[in-house]
Amino acid sequence: MKVTFLGTGTSQGVPVICCDCPVCSSLDYRNKRLRSSIHLEIDGKSVVIDTGPDFRQQMLREKIQKLDCIIYTHEHKDHTAGLDDIRSYNFLQKKDIPIYGTQNVLGQIKREFSYIFEEVKYPGVPSVVTHEITNEPFEAEGIQVIPIQVMHYRLPVFGFRFGDFTYITDAKYIDYIELEKVKGTKVLVLNALQQSHHISHFTLKEAIEMVNFLKPDRAFFTHISHKLGTHEEVEKTMPTHIRLAYDGLQIEI
Ligand SMILES: [Zn+2]
Ligand SMILES: [Zn+2]
Ligand SMILES: [Zn+2]
Repeated sequence: MKVTFLGTGTSQGVPVICCDCPVCSSLDYRNKRLRSSIHLEIDGKSVVIDTGPDFRQQMLREKIQKLDCIIYTHEHKDHTAGLDDIRSYNFLQKKDIPIYGTQNVLGQIKREFSYIFEEVKYPGVPSVVTHEITNEPFEAEGIQVIPIQVMHYRLPVFGFRFGDFTYITDAKYIDYIELEKVKGTKVLVLNALQQSHHISHFTLKEAIEMVNFLKPDRAFFTHISHKLGTHEEVEKTMPTHIRLAYDGLQIEI
């Protein structure tokens, strides 16, 4: 399995528009973070988790030549806004793209992209097949997926486990029953927004504590705000098996 971080930034992205803080004005490419999303190459399939507003730019940058399905963590705009740009894949592959999400997520997508679901469609709009998921293991295009329900303030959102790899973003609290499903994962991705308390996201300290509890071999943090600090400075404060992810980072599992 090959994992590519398409984006590792929080909802505003980094740099933030009109901000001249040291992180936003840094020239280090690792401090330029598009909205959070990953690409998985697994058993010959090409899977994307979330299609944020930077989806088009991310797929161009990584030269991703095909798209077999999309799996959604939750309905927030920074995770869904780029769905319209799957049109190139519809055109090339001449088929609908399967999208997987909870009833909530699919409902929101149907409202916000209502033109995709009209009975008589305008020519050239994206075309999808929706698959509703619940908190039960499911198969997406032949790939086994275990959802991990986590709380994002009061919103239940999904992380996903694929064999030895688990991706969790936008979490503030994880119930022990859900943590059981993560145990034994070799590579864990978690959100770590910033240093100071936040109502709906793990801080850096909380994310490190979670890694220490779950004990994966390696962990990578994502969904990072400019308030976390520069990539270089923050990594110096972290154990070496835990790293900050950055856009374009690839890991083999
Ligand atoms: Zn988010
Ligand atoms: Zn800034
Ligand atoms: Zn969110």
